[in-house]
Amino acid sequence: MGGDVKCPAGCGHMEYKKNRDLKIRAWDPLGSVFYLAGLILIVSYTEVGSGEFHPRAIVGMLLFIPGVYFSSLVTTDLSCNTCTGVILESKSIDKKLKGDLLGLSENKAEYIRTALSSSTEDSEYDCPDCSKKMSHIIVPIERERKAHEDPLLPDVVADLTSKSDTVKIDGCKECDLLWFKNAKSEQKISMDTAIITKT
Ligand SMILES: [Zn+2]
Ligand SMILES: [Zn+2]
Repeated sequence: MGGDVKCPAGCGHMEYKKNRDLKIRAWDPLGSVFYLAGLILIVSYTEVGSGEFHPRAIVGMLLFIPGVYFSSLVTTDLSCNTCTGVILESKSIDKKLKGDLLGLSENKAEYIRTALSSSTEDSEYDCPDCSKKMSHIIVPIERERKAHEDPLLPDVVADLTSKSDTVKIDGCKECDLLWFKNAKSEQKISMDTAIITKT
């Protein structure tokens, strides 16, 4: 999208901002190696619930933390300067809304595009690109919920149970863009641990 983009909520201008999302993995030569090596050490040397840390688990943590940072996804998205609204365009939709590596869950981008084109519900917002009414969809997601909310333990170590949730999305199928009135709901569906189960 070029030129001056106005926020669909009517507050004013939107600007391209760089977003690093720590909850989405992207390939980075050094970051991914640190991430995986750290993760293996932590998983191998941590006894869940013991409250004690093996020295190798601590080394793992020292590799894992910078690994998470450098192997996280960076995208440039339109953000509103006034509200917390954010727009994802084609490139970001493909990068952020993936399925899992094994293909056990739906590819989120594909699911959303199909849902948008068959949606009969109009959004209350106009598309900032073509000015037509966007469509409104509700996307069911499963989110992993941690039983131990220990900030030191990475998600994989903690006992995982899943929780059903939904995310409301407005989007324009013609322009291939998604509008999130609240950036938090964008983060909620984008994170790698949020999946759409296959039916
Ligand atoms: Zn706004
Ligand atoms: Zn449009």
